[in-house]
Amino acid sequence: MSADCIFCKIASDDIPAKKFYEDEEVIAFHDIRPIAPVHFLLVPKLHIGSLAECDQAHQDLLGKMLLLAPKLAAQLGLKGFRTMINTGREGGQEVFHIHIHVFGGGETLPKI
Ligand code: AMP
Ligand code: ZN
Repeated sequence: MSADCIFCKIASDDIPAKKFYEDEEVIAFHDIRPIAPVHFLLVPKLHIGSLAECDQAHQDLLGKMLLLAPKLAAQLGLKGFRTMINTGREGGQEVFHIHIHVFGGGETLPKI
């Protein structure tokens, strides 16, 4: 837990979020500024600043999060979705607690 981290506070229920999945290691909640009809974040309870701070010790956790993405997307009715992990300021990261964006729904997403 990092004292001034917004996602740690959501993980510990100190601030509210539209959480719809939780287990002992991971939470998922809807993004507060969605960029698609469905847009949620997969977040480990463990505070890790970014993907660039991960190492071998985080391999199982990262694999678990990736495998959860399609399961939760399907639960929310998505037939397809995009995953995104912004890493570092130059990578567009704003919240420095690692998270996977999952979004889709509506029109086919533009090619990138
Ligand atoms: P990133 O730019 O990858 O760091 O993404 C951070 C994401 O967190 C953005 O899409 C924000 O809209 C989202 N976000 C920030 N604060 C909250 C919050 N309190 N509840 C839900 N989503 C949030
Ligand atoms: Zn944190």
